[in-house]
Amino acid sequence: MKKIFTSDKYTKGRGNFVKKIEIRCNNCSEYIFSYQKEGNGELEKLFFDLILDNLSVKNGTKLVCRKCEKLLGTRFIFGKEKRDAFKLYPGAIYWKIFVPKTTIVKRG
Ligand SMILES: [Zn+2]
Repeated sequence: MKKIFTSDKYTKGRGNFVKKIEIRCNNCSEYIFSYQKEGNGELEKLFFDLILDNLSVKNGTKLVCRKCEKLLGTRFIFGKEKRDAFKLYPGAIYWKIFVPKTTIVKRG
């Protein structure tokens, strides 16, 4: 019997759901914080109101890795809504999505 629906890389690229991801330092793999990510787009900025733990990072003007002290991003105000966010340096972090039995690692 032929399968009608197949799961491929394009299937994973569809949808616009919220998921919890882990932000980690790309230099030393140190855990930075958990983040509520919307959709499947690239991660270029991190909004303060979507940071789920390690809330003390919001006190700083820079996002710095606690372990290797690499500068990961700088604080800026986004848009008309004036949302606090960190603008990430390209390649400074990577993030992981946790789904049952699989861990997707995305670098960038
Ligand atoms: Zn680090």
